[in-house]
Formats: sequence, structure tokens, C-alpha cells
Amino acid sequence: MAAPSLHLVDHIYAVKGKTDPLQAARIFRRTSIPNSWVDDIPQSKSNGTSKLYDERNILVLLNRVSPFIEQFKHLKGRCYPFYKLTAYNNCNFWCEYCYLYMTFYMRPQSIHFINYDKMFAEIEKFSRKRISPKFQLLNLGELSDPLAVDDITGFSKEIIPFVSGLNNVKLLFLTKSATVKNLLELEHKNKTVLAWSLNADTIVDMFEHKTPSSLERIKAAKKAQESGYEIRFTCKYSINPFILPSFDSIE
Ligand code: SF4
Repeated sequence: MAAPSLHLVDHIYAVKGKTDPLQAARIFRRTSIPNSWVDDIPQSKSNGTSKLYDERNILVLLNRVSPFIEQFKHLKGRCYPFYKLTAYNNCNFWCEYCYLYMTFYMRPQSIHFINYDKMFAEIEKFSRKRISPKFQLLNLGELSDPLAVDDITGFSKEIIPFVSGLNNVKLLFLTKSATVKNLLELEHKNKTVLAWSLNADTIVDMFEHKTPSSLERIKAAKKAQESGYEIRFTCKYSINPFILPSFDSIE
């Protein structure tokens, strides 16, 4: 069995007739990662772990047919209801405890939906909805980490300035990424919230494969805060918040 790739993304695919050619060309120009136009999303002939190793480092660009914005409601009411914006499906980071790991075990490739015209029309419509301010936050982190491959897609540079021009809507990026370079110079007008999930180094090393360390995430958060973004942290499992370094001590 081949070893898992060390890269987040080894190949980008666009599907003929199902992928916006202009946005695909924009993304292909941004990166030196090999790319191809194909008739269908490529699938490995292997099963189990081999299939995972073959496909988990693939990024597929596709148009979304289903709505981008939907209300999330837990079947048993265990989560607070919220609105989600599905810009990505699946994640190129490998956290072994992630529910996406098993949810997409038959299709481990991650997908970025690039028909932004449809997405932005839905966001604009959402901003005109008469709903309570506490629901006016679109969560981009329900089915992926929305910054995991942002250096490849440049998606933040498309959506953050767009939403900065709207009222009654904000974006929520839930992330473990340290890739914030694209965001730092953007016009965001406090309409984008960035929330980092942190964990103890031992847990990151054991289970959060391909993610940056918690310290790298905190350093990225510091840069984002200096660019005026509202930032948040969630600390999971065994991290002790009293041993987190203060921002002043981070270079
Ligand atoms: S970063 Fe988030 S979405 Fe991605 S694999 Fe880890 S837990 Fe899942």
C-alpha cells in the first residue's frame, strides 16, 4: 500500500460541463499544482485505507447545484440552529476524529464549489431576509475547513470583500489553518469572524494530521486581529487555557 501524500493537495480536477471555466482558470493560474479537466471525478480502484491515501489529497472544482445556504438543525435539537454556507465539501486536513472522515469514506476527495455567481446571489438574498441578528451569521465550517486550501483557491479574496458590502449578514470561518495571507489586506468591514480551533500539541501530533501546530494557528490569529478581524478560539479536549501564550509574547 502506498504511503499517504505529505501534501494537502497533489492534483486539482475540474469536470467538463460541470465546472465554471473562468473560475477554474483563475484557480489554475494561482498555483503550480498539476491540474486536469476530466469527464468525471476520478476515483481510485482501491478500497479502504488505500482509497483514502489515493484520494484524500485531491481537490475537485465543481459547480454546486443544491442551495449554498441552508439552515442546520440537529435532528434531536442538540445543536443550536444556524445557517451554513457550503463552499467546500470535505477537508484536505486529516483529523482522525472528524466526522467527515467516515461521512465521505466512499468519496474522500474534497470539493470546492466555484459557481460564485449563484453563491453570491443567495448571500445577497439572505441579507434581505427578515431574521433575528443572532441568525445572520453564515457558518462556512460545517462540512470543511474553509481556509485549509485558501492559498490555492483564493476563495477568501472573492467572498470577504463581497460580503463587506452587504448589511445583515456576516461570515464565520471555523478553521485550524495558519494560511491567512490572503485575508490580511482585504476590505472586510467587520463582516467576517475568524474562529480557530486549538488543541494540545500531543493531540495535534497524534490526530490532526497535516494541520499546523496550535502555536502557528495562534500566530495566524494574531495577524488577523491586527488586520481588524474579530477572532475567536475554541479549545478542545486537553488544552489548558492558562498555558496559552499571550499575544504580546508571540512574534
Ligand atoms: S480541520 Fe476540521 S473539517 Fe478538516 S478534518 Fe479537521 S476537524 Fe475535520
